[in-house]
Amino acid sequence: MLETQAGADQPLGAYDIITRLAAADGRVAPPTVYRALDFLVGQSFAHRVYSKSVFVVCRAGDVPHHAALHLCRACGRVVEVPCDLLDHQVVARAVGASFSVETLAVEVRGPCDACSERARSGAAFSAAFAAKWRRPD
Ligand SMILES: [Zn+2]
Ligand SMILES: [Zn+2]
Repeated sequence: MLETQAGADQPLGAYDIITRLAAADGRVAPPTVYRALDFLVGQSFAHRVYSKSVFVVCRAGDVPHHAALHLCRACGRVVEVPCDLLDHQVVARAVGASFSVETLAVEVRGPCDACSERARSGAAFSAAFAAKWRRPD
């Protein structure tokens, strides 16, 4: 399952995972996949991207942790970033309020570095093109 997911460069939905597993191993019962995903997320082997109902493989090792995820709105890549501030501040606040934390997700949306660079060079090209072909006043 993890290899199936790790083979993808984009986050995968549960349905995509079922489809890929079925292609590799024949029929896979969806409840099995959902149970396995719950287990993987619970053990921090994978993280759920709540806003998109997809999953990404955790790259941070095998210590249980909460993830902060950078979601690129242009190319769809999801990158996990270390964020122990979450545990120290957000979880501490919850514990202080006698609230039991089961899940905690931080999703930061925007263009990634590569997409920002593409947008910058695209804008520069457009400006140069417009300047070159501007009609004389
Ligand atoms: Zn992680
Ligand atoms: Zn991007």
